[in-house]
Amino acid sequence: MTAGFDAIIVGGGPAGATAARSLARGGARALVLDRAAFPRNKPCGGGLTWRTLKRFPDVEAALPRISTHAIRRIYMEAPGGASVSIETEEPAVVLVRRIEFDHLLLTMAREAGAEVAEGADVTRVSEHAAGVRLEARDGRVFEAPVVVAADGVYSTVARRLGFNPGWPRDHVAIDMMEETPLSRLRAVEDGTLWVSFAPGSGHGYGYIFPKRDYVNVGVGYVVSSFKTSIREAPYALHAAFVAGLTARGLLKGEADRSCFTPYQVPVGGPLRTTARRRVYLAGDAGGFVNGFSAEGIYFAMVTGDLAARAILDGPSPRLYERLWRREIGAEMRDARFLSRYAFADLSRVSRLVRGVRACPPLARLLADYASGTDTYEGVRRRFALKFPRIAAKLAIRYFTHRS
Ligand SMILES: Cc1cc2nc3c(=O)[nH]c(=O)nc-3n(C[C@H](O)[C@H](O)[C@H](O)COP(=O)(O)OP(=O)(O)OC[C@H]3O[C@@H](n4cnc5c(N)ncnc54)[C@H](O)[C@@H]3O)c2cc1C
Repeated sequence: MTAGFDAIIVGGGPAGATAARSLARGGARALVLDRAAFPRNKPCGGGLTWRTLKRFPDVEAALPRISTHAIRRIYMEAPGGASVSIETEEPAVVLVRRIEFDHLLLTMAREAGAEVAEGADVTRVSEHAAGVRLEARDGRVFEAPVVVAADGVYSTVARRLGFNPGWPRDHVAIDMMEETPLSRLRAVEDGTLWVSFAPGSGHGYGYIFPKRDYVNVGVGYVVSSFKTSIREAPYALHAAFVAGLTARGLLKGEADRSCFTPYQVPVGGPLRTTARRRVYLAGDAGGFVNGFSAEGIYFAMVTGDLAARAILDGPSPRLYERLWRREIGAEMRDARFLSRYAFADLSRVSRLVRGVRACPPLARLLADYASGTDTYEGVRRRFALKFPRIAAKLAIRYFTHRS
């Protein structure tokens, strides 16, 4: 049995590595358990919004250690073909490969003093009076007074301890993506982040993320919509999407099955309970993803950091929930509402895209939000002042349709 740690973090992705780094810096003895051996891949577009780097300046300072590609142009396309391009002065997004980025974050956690046990696949979890007991598949047993569950969308800890009985089908999306070397597939416009809402039928999205040496191309659907409106198998759907983009002259090359991995992302907002005295859920394990954009890395890192803070100052689950609600609660709520509102009627997505194109102040707000020039709260306030009638209408819809 391994004891003697103040906190154990299950999962060494952005949430877990950030929690471990913050705990170690705060003087706690922290141990990360991950079933993988790093560097390991995680299917992901690897789009870091600029605000992520503003929130974590030490990570920004460390980025030259890996390959990155800064993006200043975002192209959005709606069903029916309406489209808009938004240019930003600061890079709006920095594209990274998760195999490199996650390894960097975990290395930074180690450098701060955290320990890491790789190949530790946690299969059994139990809470008792003095702490939490974790059993790995290979028979190792770990115990600590406090655990951070940062083990991703399929979190074993959240399931075993009753936080999450399983995502409802409309709270999780399946994203079918490949990350392929530029020698086999490339974006024709390699400085543009290309996003399409509803590329086919159903509540879907598609994207091209051009990285420095790779390109990520993917298509995703809310699982409830995927089950009812899509007939093709995941790879066939993805390959047809890539072929369509190639025919339009947006990509050069072909889909590559060996680089393809479908994976899920929670899009229904945070779980009802995200912490108890001895257990703190961070990142995908707690449902911390923007349900409209599917951005999750920022929220994983923020909740990992806040979980560490609540543990160091307590441990206090109430403090954790207060901290994350204050920093990201409004965005979590609004994103969930916006995605349900927009995708309930696809013509609303077209109106939104046309609205952004016709209205430079709205495009400015989006650009400031994406690039981190203004916070989400700041942009929200400016939106309400600039467009009071639309804001009031959305507020009424929100209060009548929230569940
Ligand atoms: C295809 C796709 C594209 C995406 N694109 C973007 C994007 O461009 N930008 C963005 O911001 N977000 C994106 N997201 C969302 C983003 O990938 C996630 O929100 C983010 O990875 C969450 O980080 P995390 O640390 O919570 O979990 P993860 O990154 O999933 O890390 C969880 C870790 O836990 C480990 N683990 C799991 N189970 C166990 C266990 N039982 N025992 C031990 N270890 C375990 C895993 O090995 C893994 O290392 C995308 C998601 C998908 C699926």
